[in-house]
Amino acid sequence: EEVEEYRTELEGIKVRGKGCPKPIKTWAHCGCSKKVMDSLKKHGYEKPTPIQAQAIPAVMSGRDMIGIAKTGSGKTLAFILPMFRHILDQPELDEDDGPIAVIMTPTRELAMQICSECKKFTKSLLLKAVCVYGGTGISEQIAELKRGCEIIVCTPGRMIDMLAANNGKVTNMRRCTYVVLDEADRMFDMGFEPQVMKIMDSIRPDRQTVMFSATFPRQMEALARKILNKPIEVQVGGRSV
Ligand code: ADP
Ligand code: MG
Repeated sequence: EEVEEYRTELEGIKVRGKGCPKPIKTWAHCGCSKKVMDSLKKHGYEKPTPIQAQAIPAVMSGRDMIGIAKTGSGKTLAFILPMFRHILDQPELDEDDGPIAVIMTPTRELAMQICSECKKFTKSLLLKAVCVYGGTGISEQIAELKRGCEIIVCTPGRMIDMLAANNGKVTNMRRCTYVVLDEADRMFDMGFEPQVMKIMDSIRPDRQTVMFSATFPRQMEALARKILNKPIEVQVGGRSV
């Protein structure tokens, strides 16, 4: 009951699905490592926004999630902070250098923005994030991927090309266990569903999958059911515009 009151106080957070952990009030109990906490402080992120307050503990608990909140509400940190924890929890496998986490987003600009947000944290964590998007030559991106990385931020079309490039020798999804679909509504408005599904099919089914969107129209529900496993739904503000 107390938890419900706090969720309401945080701009009306609504939660659907069983077993959602309670929201966090500060970064103190967010489950991030010391290095991540230092970077949060350094970049002036004083406390979690409402979507971060509820989505971070939900995703940190290992559950699939659908996060719905308007543009500018801080959705990026809500999926990259649990991503760092997920990556740092994986055993080191030196024979594989494909990504542990893949973030899909509809446009090149968004991919670049998310990648630069990741880079605020990856340096001190000794992790590498690579941005993969179309509308520009593929060879430089291939060269970067061949050097290995833990995180790929991509647009779906170019990611498909990348998986097929050099007979599949550029990168692979064998150790990928954390997947984000960001701006999922726009991704489907732009007709990327077939590409997204193809990429999903190349990723192990025991992955953790999270989907973020400003709106959650009915048409997206069928798709969410196909790619998410017993998701928690976290919503701040209205469900669809
Ligand atoms: P969304 O994806 O929901 O549109 P973003 O993740 O792009 O939102 O964040 C919007 C802006 O808010 C960015 O400039 C980001 O740096 C800032 N921001 C995110 N989280 C916080 C926070 N906890 N405290 C202060 N600023 C934040
Ligand atoms: Mg965003």
